[in-house]
Amino acid sequence: MAAKIISGNEVSQQMKDEMKLEVAELKAKGLQPCLAVILVGEDPASKVYVSNKKKACEYIGIRSLETRLPAETTTEELLKVVNGYNNDPSVHGILCQLPLPKHIPETKILRAIVPEKDVDCFHPFNVGLISIGEVRFLPCTPAGCLELIKRGGFETSGKDVAILGRSNIVGRPLSNMLDQRTMNATVFMCHTKTKNLKEKCAGADIVIAAMGQPEFVKADMVKEGAVVIDVGINRVDAPGTEKGWKLVGDVAFDEVKEKAAAITPVPGGVGPMTIAMLMKNTLTAAREAAGLK
Ligand code: NDP
Repeated sequence: MAAKIISGNEVSQQMKDEMKLEVAELKAKGLQPCLAVILVGEDPASKVYVSNKKKACEYIGIRSLETRLPAETTTEELLKVVNGYNNDPSVHGILCQLPLPKHIPETKILRAIVPEKDVDCFHPFNVGLISIGEVRFLPCTPAGCLELIKRGGFETSGKDVAILGRSNIVGRPLSNMLDQRTMNATVFMCHTKTKNLKEKCAGADIVIAAMGQPEFVKADMVKEGAVVIDVGINRVDAPGTEKGWKLVGDVAFDEVKEKAAAITPVPGGVGPMTIAMLMKNTLTAAREAAGLK
């Protein structure tokens, strides 16, 4: 039986519509949520991401501020901008678009954002909160994966989950979230040194692939009826097409969809969820700042 396709486009739209109502309620209480985005340099992909975030803010009713800085900006100049937003009570979330130019240490900048406004959830304090099950924000891409599982109608409790990839942005926080008492999954975290990765993957009820390896997960690595979440975004050659390239995930979609119970597509799966979760964190930050539940 062919898998249910869990559409991130649809789920993220649904979430944005829900948040639009929530923002209207907050505004009625005199609270205007606000996200500040900082973009350094001219990276074309980053410009697209920032513009998409701005559009999502507009749609939901979140006020968005933007600071664009030239690539030559010094660390001190950037810290000054971050601190300006840190000290502005009308700003609830701060996001510094990555990657930063090479001469600026990313860690230093990300840790300069006060944890209360760290809506990307990269600050060690917020990461630590997740580890002890006291969540304030959830990191956007991992939270997007979990929302797709939930809204797709699937449970995590009691399930075996294979996470392929252990980065601090995706795999690691996912593992931290999934084995909490709230989610009750048993996690197998896999990486390049994992023995028998194929067998571990094939034994899992849920597979989350976040490796950056085009179509790595084949049908023989997936259990019949598994839920497969594909985080990977890989540009591969596609001779004969208009662009000459296409985007594929870390999962061989066409063959795995014949075996899985559900699968997310690439594009249109996890990708659009990341922005929706960023918006959600901004609302959480605004509520917290105003002392609202
Ligand atoms: P990283 O490169 O930081 O991490 C990749 C992880 O995968 C590492 O832990 C690595 O293992 C593991 N890995 C790589 N190759 C293999 C292999 N052959 N076998 C087993 N494990 C392997 O990647 P990210 O986490 O940043 O991103 C992963 C993918 O997700 C990328 O395609 C990226 O574009 C995409 N992505 C998508 C987002 C979205 O919004 N949809 C957001 C963020 C990322 P080891 O640690 O041993 O090196």
